[in-house]
Amino acid sequence: MFDWIIIGGGIQGCTLAVSLIKAGKVSTDKLLIIDPHNEPLAQWKRNTKRLEMKYLRSPFVHHLDLDPFSLQRFARKSNISQAFYGFYKRPSLNLFHAHCETLFQESGLRSSWHQGTVAHLERKADEWLVKTDATSTFITKNVAIATGFTDSLHYPEWSKEIRKNPPDLIRHIFEEEVQEIPHEYEPIVIVGAGITAAHLSIKLSNLHKKVILITRHPLRVKDFDSDPGWLGPNRMNSFLKIKDYKRRREAITEARYRGSFPKELSLELSRLLKKNKLSIIHGEIKTCFNCGESLVQLITDSEQKIETSPVIIATGFEGNMKHLSWLQELTRREKLQCADCGFPIVSKNLEWKKNLYVIGALAELEVGPTARNISGARTAASRIVRSI
Ligand SMILES: Cc1cc2nc3c(=O)[nH]c(=O)nc-3n(C[C@H](O)[C@H](O)[C@H](O)COP(=O)(O)OP(=O)(O)OC[C@H]3O[C@@H](n4cnc5c(N)ncnc54)[C@H](O)[C@@H]3O)c2cc1C
Repeated sequence: MFDWIIIGGGIQGCTLAVSLIKAGKVSTDKLLIIDPHNEPLAQWKRNTKRLEMKYLRSPFVHHLDLDPFSLQRFARKSNISQAFYGFYKRPSLNLFHAHCETLFQESGLRSSWHQGTVAHLERKADEWLVKTDATSTFITKNVAIATGFTDSLHYPEWSKEIRKNPPDLIRHIFEEEVQEIPHEYEPIVIVGAGITAAHLSIKLSNLHKKVILITRHPLRVKDFDSDPGWLGPNRMNSFLKIKDYKRRREAITEARYRGSFPKELSLELSRLLKKNKLSIIHGEIKTCFNCGESLVQLITDSEQKIETSPVIIATGFEGNMKHLSWLQELTRREKLQCADCGFPIVSKNLEWKKNLYVIGALAELEVGPTARNISGARTAASRIVRSI
């Protein structure tokens, strides 16, 4: 039997694991982290590598260790060049990953790793029974769900019909396998407006002659994806006083700068626009259809027609639990409380039911607009660790 099982070994799950181990709340032989990948942070690493992202958006104090200055100290000792960027000292991805790796080695976290996908979770007397889709079964005293939504890719409505018929010329950038695009396919069309679309436009414009970015709204430049006031009592105190979860959801939606990215990406996009390597169409795609073996025609709401192949979707992830059937089943079976928006209603220490915790996107109604970020992972992990 385990003391703790963490479901999902990404940014959120690993932050909690490091916190539990370093705070002496669990030993690695009593902890299990279940994730479909063969190593910690695999999904985050794959996605950020695919975009060739160089620096994180978040500042140097947001990382997986307990002490906020741990990454800065680590950087002084390491010989990684250009370790930080800009006023907020945003860490390079290389530095961030090297720091994570050191933490995993120090804490022995990898010995708690189990490759698998959780398909079933059930209360059995005072314990939790966890089953994977490969029929492995584990018993644990405590369980934390840290799966987030990064396995549920968001495809816009207009793309769903055409994707049913081969050839599939509409690809999401975070699909497991995305082939490099041959040079004969030009222009390359990217659909999206946020940080993923911005990184991808920069990467592909530097590789190809002609790239078109189609965005639903004017590009939004913001340092972070919500106001830094949400990191502390300044905004969180009034948020936590809201008792009505519908209003909490509204506050989160209003606070998040969805579809935004930091200034240096905007400057780079402007440079590419001037060089005619990139063009931006502001409009919503209404329909699309195959018009040849490897050609797609997109029609925007202003009747603009664009012929291309393939189209790369950069519209992020689904925003709710509807797509996670095992979680829906768990909610029904264990009669777990959810708000109208479908998200868990949890206690201040992020407990959904006795010894069942959530972290990351699922803890949003308690942790607030930063829940999905590294800062949210730190807040959530510290609340859980302090409560046990
Ligand atoms: C381009 C980009 C840049 C970003 N930059 C920043 C940044 O600088 N700072 C910041 O704070 N945030 C940033 N974010 C947000 C970032 O995605 C989140 O901080 C973080 O990755 C979310 O962590 P997570 O653990 O929920 O998801 P992930 O890191 O994706 O981990 C979730 C894990 O759970 C696994 N899982 C899912 N279902 C199951 C199951 N049933 N059983 C077992 N395992 C399961 C998944 O396979 C995955 O491995 C960025 C996001 C993007 C897209």
